[in-house]
Amino acid sequence: MEINITRREILRFVGGSALGFFLTPIPWKALDDSAIWTQNWPWIPEPGRGDISYKTTSCSLCPSACGMRVRCVGNQPVSISGLTLHPINQGALCPIGVVAHHLRYHPARVSRPLRITGKNGSPQHTALTVDEALIEVADAMKDASRQAQTVAIVDGRPGRTASLMLQQLAANIAHGTYVAVGDESLGVLASWFGQPIDTLAYDVDHAKTILSFGVPFFDGWGTPSRTARYLDGKPGARQYVIQVEPFRTRSAEIADRWIPLRPGTEAVFALGLAHGILQEKLYRTHVKDLYEFGNLIMEFNPPAVAEVCGISQDMIKEVAHVFAAHAPSIAIAGTAGSPKEVQSAVMLLNLLVGNIGQIGGIARKRDLPCARSAPKKSAAMSTDFASIPDHSVRVMLIDESLSSCKLPDALLLKKLLPEKGIIVSLSPFVTERPCCTQYVFPSQVFLESMAEVTNASDIPVSTLSLSIPLVPAPIGLLDPIEFVQCIARSAGILNIEPGTAEEIVKKRISTIYKEARGSVFNAVTGQTSELKTYSSPDDLWKALIAGGCWMDAPSPVTSLPAVSLTAVVSAATIKSLKLRTTDQLMLVPIMERSAYGTTSVSPIMSKVGQESGLRPYGCQALLNPTTGAAVGVIENTSILLQTKNGSFQTRARFDASIMPGVIGLSATDPDDQRNILALCDMNTDASILPTPVKIQKV
Ligand code: SF4
Repeated sequence: MEINITRREILRFVGGSALGFFLTPIPWKALDDSAIWTQNWPWIPEPGRGDISYKTTSCSLCPSACGMRVRCVGNQPVSISGLTLHPINQGALCPIGVVAHHLRYHPARVSRPLRITGKNGSPQHTALTVDEALIEVADAMKDASRQAQTVAIVDGRPGRTASLMLQQLAANIAHGTYVAVGDESLGVLASWFGQPIDTLAYDVDHAKTILSFGVPFFDGWGTPSRTARYLDGKPGARQYVIQVEPFRTRSAEIADRWIPLRPGTEAVFALGLAHGILQEKLYRTHVKDLYEFGNLIMEFNPPAVAEVCGISQDMIKEVAHVFAAHAPSIAIAGTAGSPKEVQSAVMLLNLLVGNIGQIGGIARKRDLPCARSAPKKSAAMSTDFASIPDHSVRVMLIDESLSSCKLPDALLLKKLLPEKGIIVSLSPFVTERPCCTQYVFPSQVFLESMAEVTNASDIPVSTLSLSIPLVPAPIGLLDPIEFVQCIARSAGILNIEPGTAEEIVKKRISTIYKEARGSVFNAVTGQTSELKTYSSPDDLWKALIAGGCWMDAPSPVTSLPAVSLTAVVSAATIKSLKLRTTDQLMLVPIMERSAYGTTSVSPIMSKVGQESGLRPYGCQALLNPTTGAAVGVIENTSILLQTKNGSFQTRARFDASIMPGVIGLSATDPDDQRNILALCDMNTDASILPTPVKIQKV
């Protein structure tokens, strides 16, 4: 076919293009963006030039240890994608992982040790040398020993080689206490059965029913591959999920059943389910004190629980039946900071229907092999955080694994000795816990150092992956193993394993090799093969530092020591749960605890979250339109919230997903978050309680 284009048509096209160029928003947007970006030059990484290459590694930002493919220009990582054949994440990554390479440029990074003084939102930072900071911390530790005061060593990711060294440190301090902080509800179970917390995990993939008490089950909980599978929505691809929480969250929206409870009544509801399971003889446990326990929870009968929780009696009976009969099932409690009694009541349900140590329930994993055993004293000194007496800790050392999601600041502060107690933290960012930390030692971020990742709480076997440095770290930063060694040296403690992180972790890899069990994913070949097929520890090491993953063989189902129901959920706990209804307006803080809520997120991702409206931004009081009408508040106007603890001014936003009679107060700014928490009543375990509130138009 012949195409004839005339000169007139060419001129018309060029003219139209020129006119169109000025009418489209593209050049103006580009001009606007470049103006904004150039105002922020210090943040902006300069793109390198060079050859394009791909490296494989494992993400160390959470225990899921997703396999990653990092695209580099020259030696600079420029983008990250998931490894499709990786047994844990199968190509999926969460939003934090996709932009994890930005963390190097985070504006809140610390490059020198800091002494932080000043309180309540106006901290003063003094830069120190590493030696100066070590001397000050060591002096405090020595003083603690002289005065028989506690030094608490808090480990947010038990099971790593660094964890063993933290235990060694605690064992060599006169009043040292090692505290392992993992999934809080598994921690409750671990304390009941006297097991290490890192040997328990939820066997989600083999369960048929999930009863989730406020867990963001479809919104970032667990490995991202499972979330991606769920969101795919293929019929039969997932468990029957019952979501129990006051707000119609994303998880409540996607779940098969949403139980909208009144805020603060979760433990009452769980005991109501326990009552139903006992009445209908749906239990599968052989504990001896079943009858006595039944008597203890007699008043948690359907009419009383329905009245308190604001739901129907039929709903309680139905959930109890589905949970017990549609087995295997798992009850999961607790986003960070949920009250201990809620976690205990929910874990009790697992105990009643025989889920513990079962396939599709709460699995008991084999210990991860270690090059050397934990110090003898550690069994006695290893404790859970709640059992540390209040106002007793002189020095609390926390390493970077303990993000602010795990333990509320208020709880840490409650444990410190008044005036003299200090928190010493290893962190890449200055904004982690600014209100309660006195010393920050700077650590490397992801892709700058070697990190060992073990034991996700939703994988029923032990796993080990390594993240390796792909870029050089700035001088003077510490990894967790060096941190322990430096602190020990300064405090005159000699019995700590010497060597670099690489040398020490290599010994563990040799031990795993010798045990000859489990399988290894090789990221280079994409194959998973038996560990026995590896010819040397060095071969295994090479596979792991290239983004591989070792997974233990499933452990045989083993029973756990018998426990007494009346001992684990005592009469005092049950008595503390009030079977009372209230018609007062209740204030519930909503803190964004996912990808956008912590400092360890690329600022770009926070910006996308804010601008897209996908995540809440700013400070606002969310209330149901019917509540607004009842109290005479108009949408988007200023209101004053008053509780017996203080007052707070913000804007009202109507949201039908909030149940009537409740105000959800959300904030992304840490200062606003602190002010909101100060408005609320606090439980004895420093968890925040729904609080009666009055509302005034301003
Ligand atoms: S889920 Fe965890 S390990 Fe996976 S990409 Fe996200 S932060 Fe990294």
